[in-house]
Amino acid sequence: MIQITMPLGFLGTVYREIRQALVDMGEMFDLLQQPAEITDKPGADVLNVQGGTIAFDDISFHYDATRPILKGVSLTVPAGHTVALVGPSGSGKSTIGRLMFRFYDVTGGSIRIDGQDLRDVTQKSLHDAIGVVPQDTVLFNDTIRYNIAYGRGNATEDEIIAAAKGAKIHDFIMDLPEGYDTAVGERGLKLSGGEKQRVGIARTMLKNPPILLLDEATSALDTQTERDIQTSLKAIAQGRTVITIAHRLSTIVDADLIVVLEQGEVIEQGHHEDLLARRGRYAAMWAHQSAEEQRADEEDAGAA
Ligand code: ADP
Ligand code: MG
Repeated sequence: MIQITMPLGFLGTVYREIRQALVDMGEMFDLLQQPAEITDKPGADVLNVQGGTIAFDDISFHYDATRPILKGVSLTVPAGHTVALVGPSGSGKSTIGRLMFRFYDVTGGSIRIDGQDLRDVTQKSLHDAIGVVPQDTVLFNDTIRYNIAYGRGNATEDEIIAAAKGAKIHDFIMDLPEGYDTAVGERGLKLSGGEKQRVGIARTMLKNPPILLLDEATSALDTQTERDIQTSLKAIAQGRTVITIAHRLSTIVDADLIVVLEQGEVIEQGHHEDLLARRGRYAAMWAHQSAEEQRADEEDAGAA
């Protein structure tokens, strides 16, 4: 009996670790889903980012030819601006992110960065230019320093600290028992969702890309965490071209442009105030979310 229990217990641990790894991968690949066979064209150029203007020109896309997903989407994100994509689940927001990363090629139209068609540049140079802050940051079983510097092994201590400060996580790290040497991850200190996300933001700050793709967390975060993350995201958005996939409208009221997608089409676009005044789909979504938030606040107040 005893001889059997030991290996089974061991297998249980391995199983749990594998399952956890799969869960982490699943979350990471929600946005950065399984890529198709995209290859560089012969003699592809290196993407030359000037300001980072992104132009989606009448793009269409399907995963499966029987079911169109994006149907002639056009939108321009001027250099240094922030565009928020909103719309119901399944409307195609994450797909636009995947196309921008060229995990798939558009089936019609084109996507250009500073005038260069994504299909004409190397994927490496494209990926170097775009920072992604996923909903869930995967932590490695290593120090928090390693986790921030991940992907930039040659980063100096000063650069790592600057990135952590930018992501508003430096003070938190300094309060840890071993500061930047504190082990985190499954086998170390467990970080909360909000802390993990700020590690992800610091990682992206260190990469310092001209273009950012943000996929806002769908899971409910407490108000303070939400505020901390928003502050970090505002800091990182400074001076970059940003496409943010937003779930909570309250976080994107300041966006330079809000684009409302429905069933793969742009149905409205404009500033928050313009869209409210239009009394269309966005205004209805806003009213709905405001009512929900108020109900949640009242419940919190009632519980306290
Ligand atoms: P959103 O991010 O707005 O919720 P998505 O871009 O993830 O929407 O999905 C748009 C549509 O494409 C959905 O109907 C979804 O089911 C479908 N879809 C997403 N990924 C795939 C895929 N790999 N294969 C087939 N259909 C997909
Ligand atoms: Mg999505």
